[in-house]
Amino acid sequence: MNSRHYADILGARVDLVNTREALDKIKHFIITRQSAHVITLNAEIVYQAQNDPELLRIINSADLVTPDGIGIVWAGRRLGYPFEERVSGIDLLYLICGQASQENWKIYFLGSAPGIADEAARQLTQKYPGINICGTHNGYFSEEQLPSIIEEIKALQPDILFVALGAPGQEYWINKFRQSLMVPVAIGVGGSFDVIAGVKSRAPEWMIKANLEWLYRLLKEPSRFKRQLALPKFVLLILRHSLYKN
Ligand code: UDP
Repeated sequence: MNSRHYADILGARVDLVNTREALDKIKHFIITRQSAHVITLNAEIVYQAQNDPELLRIINSADLVTPDGIGIVWAGRRLGYPFEERVSGIDLLYLICGQASQENWKIYFLGSAPGIADEAARQLTQKYPGINICGTHNGYFSEEQLPSIIEEIKALQPDILFVALGAPGQEYWINKFRQSLMVPVAIGVGGSFDVIAGVKSRAPEWMIKANLEWLYRLLKEPSRFKRQLALPKFVLLILRHSLYKN
């Protein structure tokens, strides 16, 4: 369980796991009470990390990095790594919640606008009766509020902390606080609470299957255009890299 097989994508280590294997690893982190950091990595972040050594260090010090986004899966395959599928934050969140209701794992939700984490918790409690969401806090807090949030999480002792502060801010945040929080698993889930609470919609199933979820997000949130400009640049870097490799 401790051995890791991973791809090297422009210096970022990405575990060669499918969704089921990722869930098994998370289960293992909980059983062994580690302070594990799980990252669901997309191409934008890998591109950003090319000019941000600290971000690259954080990615490579995480305990599990899943291929979130077709950009990573495509790049991995192009470089010769056998990625089976995308392992996205929201898919993992649902699976973990399903498992948590059976195993009695405690969950804490941190992030998103005021009221959103609570609404997401309500929706998930209806979907998975018996789930123990022990606390929530929105993601717009000041430096002064931070110590009391940390204390609350420590006192509640969740097994899993979902952090929805946007990538890569959530990765920096988890990296900074994971040892002091002593939570077995902390995982960044971006805009997942917004989707679960119903304030943002996810792409229709056919678009997800056609690997067009990025296009759906771009159409829904045109302000993401600048961010998504990283994608063609990422593709070019991978093509160059794969040519050198062969
Ligand atoms: N967010 C937050 N605090 C902040 C900035 C962002 O809680 O200071 C939340 C925001 O409300 C949203 C999520 O982080 O729920 C980011 O969503 P996005 O879809 O941008 O996720 P990403 O694509 O960055 O993973």
